[in-house]
Amino acid sequence: MRPATEDTEDHALRITLTSIGCKLNAYETEALAWTLQQQGHRLVEPHAEADVCVVNTCTVTSAGDADSRKAIRRARRRNPGATVVVTGCYAQHDAAAVTAAGADLVVGNADKARLPEILQAYRAGRLGPPPPTLPPPRTSRFLELSGALIGGRTRGSLQIQDGCDARCTYCAVPAVRGPGVSRNAAEIVDQARRMVDAGYHELALTGVNIGSYGHDRQQPQALIELLCRLETIEGLERIRLSSLEPAFLSDLLIDYAARSSRLCRHFHVPLQSGDEMILKRMGRHYTRTFYAERIQQLAAAVPDCAIGADVMVGFPGETEARFQRTFDLLAELPLTYLHVFAYSRRPGTPAARMPDHPSQAAKKARSRALIEWGQARRHAFHQHHLGATLDVLLEDRADAGTGLQTGLSDNYIKVLVSAPGMANRIVPVRITAANGASTRGILVE
Ligand code: SF4
Repeated sequence: MRPATEDTEDHALRITLTSIGCKLNAYETEALAWTLQQQGHRLVEPHAEADVCVVNTCTVTSAGDADSRKAIRRARRRNPGATVVVTGCYAQHDAAAVTAAGADLVVGNADKARLPEILQAYRAGRLGPPPPTLPPPRTSRFLELSGALIGGRTRGSLQIQDGCDARCTYCAVPAVRGPGVSRNAAEIVDQARRMVDAGYHELALTGVNIGSYGHDRQQPQALIELLCRLETIEGLERIRLSSLEPAFLSDLLIDYAARSSRLCRHFHVPLQSGDEMILKRMGRHYTRTFYAERIQQLAAAVPDCAIGADVMVGFPGETEARFQRTFDLLAELPLTYLHVFAYSRRPGTPAARMPDHPSQAAKKARSRALIEWGQARRHAFHQHHLGATLDVLLEDRADAGTGLQTGLSDNYIKVLVSAPGMANRIVPVRITAANGASTRGILVE
């Protein structure tokens, strides 16, 4: 809703922010929060009274769409007089749907960094109602985040690129985030420095397809060059890569990971399927043999590396036998955990028009089987570290069940430990127990 009195100053608005979906969205929401605070506005809890409610939406699955609509409706219900601003992938994909759910202002993905200016223009009466569709996105400006540690999080995210040039047939992301765009390296290094000055010891490099960093500028080695530059920042003790497509897990990057003392021994490499025909239908341009060879080479070069994979079940054409091929491949690989997704039909994508969609019951059963397999692998990885001493970055929060402090090793092992007053420090911890999704340890003097 537009304010009753036009206020071109709009100082000290009370603003709620809600993020749906992936880590990139979370980063962007955090960066928006920081920018809005810098401008003198006040962030309030989602249930508090507010002048503006910002919802950063997701459209990766139909559940992402539904969660986004729910968050918009909730914001509108809690704050009937507020301006509800909706941005993100679902807003980009279906501006009419988010408007119907209650958005006053819809900001496309390419304009996210300009959201505070656009909000001001809207509240000053200089913008009309949202259009039913938004122009195709192309990111030209990235959101900055330089602030202090927010909400007990000790690991920061740093966006290095946006968009994707691949055309996986199930994915709506290229349509809603546009082509791959790499952020300027000097800007990334500056932001990393400011985040380290603000207290972060670990930064995770995020984006839609970070392996493609530099490819839009014909600089295929740009990711390694960027890592080398980031490693020179004093106080930045850990750099973590987010998801990396198999084609970008090059020999050079594996060599680099083997030599680097700051790059975390943690790689997440989406597989999606272990069946050649399904991979082809998905538009994934690698074979199961290529994937297996990359993962085995990585595991051999970087001992005790955490290696995770995304696997999608229920893609059109996935029979029981083809699913079994995925399972068989997984059993051969040194993976340490899995993220399992059930295929979700995304309107406008080629896969949505393909025949032979497996039943919901088959998708559920296959998901369950893979989730259990992934849990067993994670548990085995944890058990392998019993008695070992790991450097653990302690977080500023306690585990709900035990009251112990939580922390994370560079190789992605969650550790619970008694370490009062030591938040945001990297300390040696000996692993003494491995239970379920986490481990327990004691501080090594
Ligand atoms: S690589 Fe494929 S799945 Fe990933 S964002 Fe690009 S199109 Fe989507």
